Amino acid sequence: MADHDVDLFVIGGGSGGVRAARIAASHGARVVVAEEYRVGGTCVIRGCVPKKLLVYASRFSGDFEDAAGFGWSVPEPIFHWPTLIGNVDREVARLEAAYTATLERYKVALVKSRAVLENAHTVRLADGKRVRAETILIATGAWPHYGPKIPGLDHAMSSNEAFKLKDLPRRIVIQGGGYIAVEFACVFAGLGSEVTLVYRGENILRGFDDDIREHLRNEMRGRGITVTCGHTVAAIERAGEEFVTRLSDGSTIASDKVMFAIGRRPNVTGLGLETVGIKLAEHGGIAVDSYSRSSIANIYAVGDVTHRVNLTPVAIREGHAFADTVYGGKPTPVDHTNVPTAVFSEPEIGVVGLTEQQASERLAKVDIYKTSFRPMKATLSGRATRMFMKLVVDGSNNQVVGCHIIGPDAGELIQVLGIAVKMRATKADFDATMAVHPTGAEELVTMREKAASYARVAAE
Ligand SMILES: Cc1cc2nc3c(=O)[nH]c(=O)nc-3n(C[C@H](O)[C@H](O)[C@H](O)COP(=O)(O)OP(=O)(O)OC[C@H]3O[C@@H](n4cnc5c(N)ncnc54)[C@H](O)[C@@H]3O)c2cc1C
Repeated sequence: MADHDVDLFVIGGGSGGVRAARIAASHGARVVVAEEYRVGGTCVIRGCVPKKLLVYASRFSGDFEDAAGFGWSVPEPIFHWPTLIGNVDREVARLEAAYTATLERYKVALVKSRAVLENAHTVRLADGKRVRAETILIATGAWPHYGPKIPGLDHAMSSNEAFKLKDLPRRIVIQGGGYIAVEFACVFAGLGSEVTLVYRGENILRGFDDDIREHLRNEMRGRGITVTCGHTVAAIERAGEEFVTRLSDGSTIASDKVMFAIGRRPNVTGLGLETVGIKLAEHGGIAVDSYSRSSIANIYAVGDVTHRVNLTPVAIREGHAFADTVYGGKPTPVDHTNVPTAVFSEPEIGVVGLTEQQASERLAKVDIYKTSFRPMKATLSGRATRMFMKLVVDGSNNQVVGCHIIGPDAGELIQVLGIAVKMRATKADFDATMAVHPTGAEELVTMREKAASYARVAAE
């Protein structure tokens, strides 16, 4: 130990790194965190938090419209983007300060610098200073990926820049079909922009349940968003103040901004991984075992840089488990199954467990229960929207193995349903639970009729 300056050196002060540092320090380790940009990482600075604040902002337009049916007359609402962004920036700065204060409270030393590996025990900082550590944790996150080089690619921005726009774009083209792309499409549309979403696949939200994907696409169209699937952006040209986006079919779209949200790649470049011999997995993230240990025994990696499940609570759980394993005397593997997740689109999505398709590929017998209904609030508001819910049940033992919801508060609902699914609740447990009336969620415990499932349709 004597030839080490610290017990643990954490590269990256985001969700995973900060949690790991704090817990390791609480177990008595001497810890240093290096952060090259702002403490808090993607989630706090340019991800979940500022995004959710924009989502809240974007939903007021619908609320103002809906109010009329309930007897309110609301004067023509006026939206001011600089006010929103200024307030979001202040909240982000407050959270950054809170994260920094937490590190100080736990006596974790913070170095505001880029850090790279020089060898398995040495980290080099931007000023050339070297720190020797017994254990190193890589928690460098991920970065937006722009795809193949196309003419005019420099004109495209990523979600990072979306939080820094001076004005709300009157028209925006967004390329991508994942959750970040659809969330931003709904945010901009809600705030009043004319939005075109361009996605190369046959439908948005690949990996989600097909019914959810179709439902959201229809709802987005109903809210005036143009969803163009089966095409890619082939080129972007500047024409005076605007941009002209040419699609793979030759058609063009004029807009004030073009955003790419086609995926994020683990931050592994230039870190010295090759020098040390750290192996990458096929997907490009650092290969780790269930304790987040890399191919080098004293070097661990957590969060998006490992490209397992790229979500904040997962990065936090992995960081916490790493610290408990290495410093708390409590080896803790991380269970990546049944991670509940939300898409803050409009309407919102909440999912946990298997999609119908996954279940039909993996299980001998699948029972599907689904319902689609008009949310009560939409009756008086007159809004053309529906809520949809699906339960995927293992037909062999009645266990609920998947829940898929699209509609108001789906993110909140799925957090609670996630507990039931994690506890292996059966459909009979759902049925035995008394409904809460009048809510949308009561439908979850009152679905009795089996719907036609892939498996059954295929068998018939
Ligand atoms: C627009 C957007 C919306 C999102 N919304 C959600 C959501 O609603 N819910 C959810 O769960 N997840 C969401 N995510 C994903 C979530 O933000 C990430 O999964 C999470 O932040 C990963 O944490 P991490 O610790 O792995 O990495 P990060 O939080 O990215 O932290 C990595 C840190 O390392 C620093 N760093 C990188 N390299 C170095 C280096 N060499 N030296 C020093 N510092 C370095 C970076 O500056 C960064 O601060 C969203 C992401 C984006 C982009």
